[in-house]
Amino acid sequence: MRPCYKEPTADWEEVATRQSPAYQKGARELKPPPVREEVLAFHNSQIVVDLHLDSILQQRLFRYDIKKRHSPWMRRQPLFWHADIPRMVEGGYTAAVCGIHYWPWESRRAFPEVKKQLDYLERVVETDERVVSARTAEEIEAAKREGKLALMAGFEGAHLLSGQIEHVEEFRQRKGLYLTLAHFSRNSATVPALGRGADPDQGLTPFGRELVQTLNAVGMIADVAHLNERTVLEVCELSTAPVIASHTIARALHDHRRGVTDRAIEAITATGGVIGIMFCPSFLTGKLNTSLAAVAEHIEHVADVGGPGCVAIGTDLDGWISTIPNDIRDCRDLPYLTQLLLDRGFTQEQTGLVLGGNALRVIRSVRGS
Ligand SMILES: [Zn+2]
Repeated sequence: MRPCYKEPTADWEEVATRQSPAYQKGARELKPPPVREEVLAFHNSQIVVDLHLDSILQQRLFRYDIKKRHSPWMRRQPLFWHADIPRMVEGGYTAAVCGIHYWPWESRRAFPEVKKQLDYLERVVETDERVVSARTAEEIEAAKREGKLALMAGFEGAHLLSGQIEHVEEFRQRKGLYLTLAHFSRNSATVPALGRGADPDQGLTPFGRELVQTLNAVGMIADVAHLNERTVLEVCELSTAPVIASHTIARALHDHRRGVTDRAIEAITATGGVIGIMFCPSFLTGKLNTSLAAVAEHIEHVADVGGPGCVAIGTDLDGWISTIPNDIRDCRDLPYLTQLLLDRGFTQEQTGLVLGGNALRVIRSVRGS
């Protein structure tokens, strides 16, 4: 299917419902997990930041309309259809960083395609009173006070620059929060941990080093998700600002190349940065059928290694992940994670840091208030 940026015409909710095996059996809606009332009240009082979700990718490929509510169509919902504005609002989101993508190899077509996705995001903000765009921590806090959802952009892969470092400034101007240095292929800046050109013995190129310095200079965050350990350590050494891994898992719990090692967690923490934990069972445990407790376990491990100030959430929902945890419907059930963390002994203060406090601290540090 060719990427298309026209306003959606199909009624996707209706399509999803018709395709749904659950619907065909007569069950129109999956059951939410049990969240205690006081937990829900606490969750809704917090600033909640998802450092990475990919609904804009669905828009690019399938004209998915993030302004409309979509129905989950089966348990462990594979690949996508996990998030949209109504469901993020219901899940207590304050801010979401939307991944901006293009096919993961370097081409001159990438930058114009990126601009179309940014145009779509801008159009959503202009035409939907439930959302605002945000560039700073202060704007996210204002969104919370006003009961709005703040949307930001995260650029997934230095290949999106089409080899031109001056595009970084335009990314920043168009509300870009971070740039992930690689996606699933080698680019001018570095190699990925997984994908075309992956090589654990290679790190940043001279262009990659210049890129990290440029991100520091313009006030964008360098994101090391998708990078190998060697490159993560190099970026952390070089960067003068906090570094993040926007969506990842802890390799100590499941040794997958997409994850971060304890050494990498320590290096990111030393920059003042954060590690966002994904909701993807195959990365968390190596299995397709895993409960949300696996996410809590990875959060706990990262907090054990780097302290409660270094862990955050970067769900990767809608990012073609093979499944989502078996006890949640979609992004609406984020409060259940809050309950799991509190039940594991996280204090309210620590839980608040994981939900959004830590991400907000990094955004404040890199973007100013
Ligand atoms: Zn990714």
